[in-house]
Amino acid sequence: MFEKVLIANRGEIALRVLRACRELGIKTVAVHSEVDAEAKYVKLADESVCIGPAASNLSYLNIPAIISAAEVTDAEAIHPGYGFLSENADFAERVEKSGFVFIGPKPETIRLMGDKVSAKEAMKAAAVPCVPGSEGALPEDPKEVVKIARDIGYPVIIKAAGGGGGRGMRVVHTEAALSNAVNMTRAEAQAAFGNPVVYMEKFLENPRHIEIQILADNFKNAVWLGERDCSMQRRHQKVIEEAPAPDVNRRALARIGERCAEACRRIGYRGAGTFEFLYENNEYFFIEMNTRVQVEHPVTELTAGIDIVQAQVRIAAGEKLWFRQRDIEPKGHAIECRINAEDPFKFTPSPGKISNWHPPGGPGIRVDSHVYSGYTVPPNYDSMIGKVIAYGDSREQAIRRMRIALSEMMVDGIKTNIPLHQELMLDERFVKGGCSIHYLEEKLAARAEAAKGQ
Ligand code: ADP
Repeated sequence: MFEKVLIANRGEIALRVLRACRELGIKTVAVHSEVDAEAKYVKLADESVCIGPAASNLSYLNIPAIISAAEVTDAEAIHPGYGFLSENADFAERVEKSGFVFIGPKPETIRLMGDKVSAKEAMKAAAVPCVPGSEGALPEDPKEVVKIARDIGYPVIIKAAGGGGGRGMRVVHTEAALSNAVNMTRAEAQAAFGNPVVYMEKFLENPRHIEIQILADNFKNAVWLGERDCSMQRRHQKVIEEAPAPDVNRRALARIGERCAEACRRIGYRGAGTFEFLYENNEYFFIEMNTRVQVEHPVTELTAGIDIVQAQVRIAAGEKLWFRQRDIEPKGHAIECRINAEDPFKFTPSPGKISNWHPPGGPGIRVDSHVYSGYTVPPNYDSMIGKVIAYGDSREQAIRRMRIALSEMMVDGIKTNIPLHQELMLDERFVKGGCSIHYLEEKLAARAEAAKGQ
């Protein structure tokens, strides 16, 4: 096992990785920007190194500063968390070339799966069903593009091969709008991701977002730990996640899960990863893979009984998977609410000092958060300040526990989206289960309309 791990991230995931390392008896190095210097989790680490000013591109995205921090502290491995450099193949490569272990897949795997066109090709080769669409990248010739769209059938969605974070996508409903949409997405993709390649998919009108968590070791062993339903989204960003997915075709899911594990064996995948699918009319269609730990990993940890972050570290240290597929029997139900420092209905960020922080507790409640009374939420980063996860024997019990947890929780001094979560936990459609990816936006639009009328 490693003696010392450097955590190349901040906030709740930095604390989560720190806790995993401590339980494994590993010393930790926290790197931080100037604005995060006083954070409590930074003090909890055995050592800390300031890697630059608040702006992410000068600190949490500053590859030479992070590698130097690992060198001066004699860390053996680097955990990238999620976001920032976690899916940057060049970073993984630099980490390995500098003699450290990257806690994640091999750089070439990150590159393969980071390009959505090559990822889809790899999945097709592993017999994983994909959203119907263009064979690879769209050609330059507009006439050919028109033909491809006709074959797929409108509406279609134009997506950037290098896209991420819900950006670089455009829905097209008519042939008249096609060529302009392709050109605009190409230009945007070049500007945002440095890669103008775009592809086309059928735009599914009412799908759910279902994803499969996998773990794979260096010895071609791979298992899947069940699925998550992340359909409650706003602007393609997840707001609530749960496991298992309510009311889905479980036979087809088991087949897909096994194919995902098989795909991992084929490509020599290593570490934790997530295969994302759209689910419509009882069918699953692959859209992309995330080659890192995800924000929503706790709901799988609670149902599958596996510590995913510790597993990442143990796999990176060269351990063989210590359980087999038949040992995984997800139990109960878990729901996660992402708590953001923002106006609950206008969604404007609300950074600032938290004068009072009282997290909930009790049976089945887990809170993953780095904040505390007196903590100042900086304006420079993502607005998520923590996650409340409720576990129960049934979905009903998990929802009841979540309602109680949210009602107990106090966050004073800033605005949070807790009132939105409270409303959603009472929402008839959510409580029934199985909402599509458009449900939350439609509900918010209707809510805004009603408010205007008053
Ligand atoms: P990103 O990497 O930016 O997260 P994804 O490919 O995972 O991009 O897509 C993000 C979200 O966009 C999905 O969860 C879904 O809500 C929507 N989406 C993507 N592809 C399609 C499609 N073919 N049809 C309908 N919605 C889609």
